[in-house]
Amino acid sequence: QSLLKENGNRKKNVIILGSGWGAISFLHKLDTTQYNVTIVSPRNYFLFTPLLPSVPTSTVGSNSICDPVRTIARQTPGEVTYYEAAATDVDPVNQTVKIVHKNMNFSLGEAFVNKDEPIEKTLKYDYLIYAVGAKVNTFGIPGIPEYASFLKEAHDATAVRQKLFNAIEASRLLPEDSEERKRLLTFVVCGGGPTGVELAAEVKDYIDQDLLKFIPGIDKEMKVILVEALPNVLNMFHPKLIEYTKEVFKTQHVDLRTNTMVKKVDARNVYASAKKPDGTTEDVVIPYGTLVWAGGNAQRELTRSLADKITEQKTARRGLLVDEYMKLDGDDHIYALGDCTFTANAPTAQVAHQQGEFLADHFNKLAKIDDLEYLTSLEKDEASKEKHLKRLERYKNSIKPFSYRHQGALAYVGSERAVADLTWGSWSTVALGGNLTFFFWRTAYVSMILGVRSKLLVISDWIKVSMFGRDCSKD
Ligand code: FAD
Ligand code: NAD
Repeated sequence: QSLLKENGNRKKNVIILGSGWGAISFLHKLDTTQYNVTIVSPRNYFLFTPLLPSVPTSTVGSNSICDPVRTIARQTPGEVTYYEAAATDVDPVNQTVKIVHKNMNFSLGEAFVNKDEPIEKTLKYDYLIYAVGAKVNTFGIPGIPEYASFLKEAHDATAVRQKLFNAIEASRLLPEDSEERKRLLTFVVCGGGPTGVELAAEVKDYIDQDLLKFIPGIDKEMKVILVEALPNVLNMFHPKLIEYTKEVFKTQHVDLRTNTMVKKVDARNVYASAKKPDGTTEDVVIPYGTLVWAGGNAQRELTRSLADKITEQKTARRGLLVDEYMKLDGDDHIYALGDCTFTANAPTAQVAHQQGEFLADHFNKLAKIDDLEYLTSLEKDEASKEKHLKRLERYKNSIKPFSYRHQGALAYVGSERAVADLTWGSWSTVALGGNLTFFFWRTAYVSMILGVRSKLLVISDWIKVSMFGRDCSKD
């Protein structure tokens, strides 16, 4: 990469951490000719998370919702360096990031990478775009890390599918009335946020619409249970939509266990405490064959350690604190966005996407301001200097704070039904039901997909499923 711009000004080093919604939306809109851009992420692709719950059932293929970082980088006007690595330390005083490449969840080939000797590198930044997202919150509940799957990454979806098929295939060897067979044929999702609801809905569809064609009677034997600690699922949605979801689940025979708080998990059972209508609680044991934990977000260790280094971030327990330009409170060189921050907005793709686009626009303006300041400092002629200063003033005035435009929330609830909380400016409404909302849900998601390739792949996956049904091989 050239270190200087055409006008002789030094390009500032911008390091982007992450390849999710915030980071990629930023990269997509950034004028990469104006900066020395490096993107660092252990995941070398962008993942379109809204369709991740459709992956374990093969409604959508995992490749269809993954876009390689390098392809996205190549579509920007300048040069971008990508490192497949995880940041392990940020030093805000010296403006450096330590990154480490190691054999993580994907196999790289022993010939190139020794698992015991990760490769480290230190990068110097002028600006750090911190968009590492969040991890799954297990609340320290014993057994979850060992026995439950998550639904956060593409490989999680594959693991869920494999566990589901392992359990189904194993159950075939057992007598129909055996308790062990019943256990294996129980799919339990813990956490009734949108992730848990959509996954339970997709799995129930899969059993009722496709698996029963290959395994007669499986729809009667197999149970899908959704466990939620609060009185309702989808708590951020309009009450009408919550009621509708409950109705759909009832008719589809998804066993909804609200007011049921998971306390412990082992290799076979979920142990929970269920609140009864009279306010008392009872201990319940839910045997499972496949278990997915969808309990929400928690901060990554890297985010906590960064917060600990900055006095203004000492109270940042739920995420980094940023100002209205996404700049970290207490640091002038770090900008943070998405699920790693704590703001008035919910941790959603919609928010991270808008923040990323806002920040890119902000950085495009900062580059112009930096150039004008540089040219002004070199200018000897007073009249030209005056001109530069006027333009500088105009650019500075054009900088506006971030403001989030909520466009609503959508969730798939099963049997080709979706719920939608829609907002346009000050107008809002709810939509629930079959064909029309489902069609709207699909159209909205396709329009949100960033790349043309992924849009086409997702549409072709849906067409394939409608013609031939979902695939039932274990992968
Ligand atoms: P992420 O998209 O999680 O990206 C974080 C990135 O940082 C990843 O690339 C990760 O590999 C990388 N990273 C992690 N650690 C490091 C490190 N140490 N160094 C460098 N990089 C690192 N939101 C909606 O608005 N609508 C939806 O329909 C929707 N559906 C969802 C479905 C599922 C199953 C899930 C899990 C989430 C869904 N969300 C949805 C929420 C949405 O995905 C998140 O809010 C969004 O991904 C946040 O974007 P982000 O950039 O902050 O983090
Ligand atoms: P969430 O935080 O929305 O929901 C987690 C659920 O787990 C909560 O309802 C919580 O009460 C429950 N829970 C926590 N501990 C429990 C316990 N011990 N026992 C039983 N239940 C327990 O998490 P999510 O669904 O993963 O969503 C994360 C973020 O991503 C949210 O901001 C969400 O809006 C967004 N998202 C949006 C969509 C969509 O718009 N369609 C889809 C998925 C995720």
